[in-house]
Amino acid sequence: MAVDPAETSATLLIDGEWRSGASVFEVVDPATLEVIAKVADGGPDDALAALSAAVTAFRTWREVPSEERAATLRRAADRIRAEADRLAAVLTAENGKPLGESRGEILGTARMLEWAAEEGRRAYGRVTPPNAAGPGLVMREPVGPTLAISPWNFPASMLVRKLSLALAAGCTVIAKPAEQTPLIATELIRIIADAGLPPGALQSITTSRPAEVAGALLADPRLRKVTFTGSTEVGLSLIRSTDKHLRRTSLELGGHSPAIVFDDADLAAAAAGVVATKFANAGQSCISINRLFVQRTALEEFLPLVLERVAELRVGHGTTTGTTVGPLIDFAGLDKVERHVADARKRGATVLTGGRRWEPGDAKLAGAFYEPTVLTGLDDSMLISSEETFGPVLPIYAFDDEDEVVERANATDYGLAAYVYSNRMDRVLRTADRLSFGLIGVNDPFPVRPELPFGGIRNSGQEREGGSEGIDAYLETKSVSVKL
Ligand code: NAD
Repeated sequence: MAVDPAETSATLLIDGEWRSGASVFEVVDPATLEVIAKVADGGPDDALAALSAAVTAFRTWREVPSEERAATLRRAADRIRAEADRLAAVLTAENGKPLGESRGEILGTARMLEWAAEEGRRAYGRVTPPNAAGPGLVMREPVGPTLAISPWNFPASMLVRKLSLALAAGCTVIAKPAEQTPLIATELIRIIADAGLPPGALQSITTSRPAEVAGALLADPRLRKVTFTGSTEVGLSLIRSTDKHLRRTSLELGGHSPAIVFDDADLAAAAAGVVATKFANAGQSCISINRLFVQRTALEEFLPLVLERVAELRVGHGTTTGTTVGPLIDFAGLDKVERHVADARKRGATVLTGGRRWEPGDAKLAGAFYEPTVLTGLDDSMLISSEETFGPVLPIYAFDDEDEVVERANATDYGLAAYVYSNRMDRVLRTADRLSFGLIGVNDPFPVRPELPFGGIRNSGQEREGGSEGIDAYLETKSVSVKL
């Protein structure tokens, strides 16, 4: 998709005005490596101008009745639905995922905006029974100006989860989209801002220098909240940035998700489910399966079912009809995948299918493609068993009993998602209780809904997005003791 550079260079939204930066940076199609746009390269001064506007806008936006804030978000949701096809094409152009996945992600942002609109109206306080002097009140107030840093792998949904809940709560937001995917972020921010937000309520700084831009904002105590989705390494650095000024910090970080297939499961459905979870977005998902545990008694029947499903996958450009696996975002991502597979092989793993770069028939597809890969014969000491691969590689491990698999599944520094395939209610409930992860899919490959809190434990993060917990991340709680 060629995008007119003149149309995309003014991507800094500051105080209600779209501005160009002092310079630009390039956005590439990861499938072809063609430059598809040039966007404004914002710097620390732009970020601080946005912060001043966010502080001013907060005074008025927090006073807007929650009903009106909700109506604005619903208008944005309607517009996103109406433009879903166009927006999906923009997402695929810079991220590479198949168009169908992009469309699903875009429609998910509309649902999230609607959920946030409702939740903003339910930011309830409470009244405590009076003591001798009078009642006690618990009141909520929006946290304040918020920095929202989002990643490239789900550049629409991760961004809108943050913006929608923050705006619904009455916070003002400075978005800092990932440098690989500023185009879809800019499109969505334009739609949400145009739905009726006052200048400064929602701003955006596209930049190729995230550490500098975020650093300038984080050094300023007027920034009251940072909400971040990305790597655990950067997430930890954001926590350290609060050593001088405390501020609320929501983190959605990496994962190392186990999936467990018990021998009583519907094995065909389980095979379809794990392949769908694993190869979505070419495996570049924080809730992707990193370790698939299959009960030894089911392994012989299960493996051919998985391989059949994997054989149906089609690698290619995200816009080509029938493509189900696009490119990796870049060659650094591909190097990591190759390192993990080489290490597993060296230590005795077997490659059942894939295990190498995908060779396109078309010379235009110069991006970082990798064949959908299935590995067996793994042990828990391999790199792939503890580090996030972030690519289309499904490692399969055998297990014998429930106690053993729960212990192995929990043996990770991460705690974002886990999956259980079983038709036995006792097993499902016991395992869901004992697995220590923020999200658990039971016979469900995509356990993500606006109504459910999304987030991880241990090194996968803190605070939640979605559910009734989502709005709490953008609200302070105050106690008011009344003496009548
Ligand atoms: P990343 O941490 O490099 O980048 C994420 C965002 O942080 C980008 O916007 C980037 O510009 C910004 N950033 C980079 N360095 C920064 C710094 N020093 N200060 C402030 N901001 C900075 O992550 P990535 O490799 O692009 O994304 C993949 C990671 O994100 C994976 O680990 C994945 O599991 C994780 N992820 C988590 C979730 C979740 O909800 N838990 C969802 C999607 C992705």
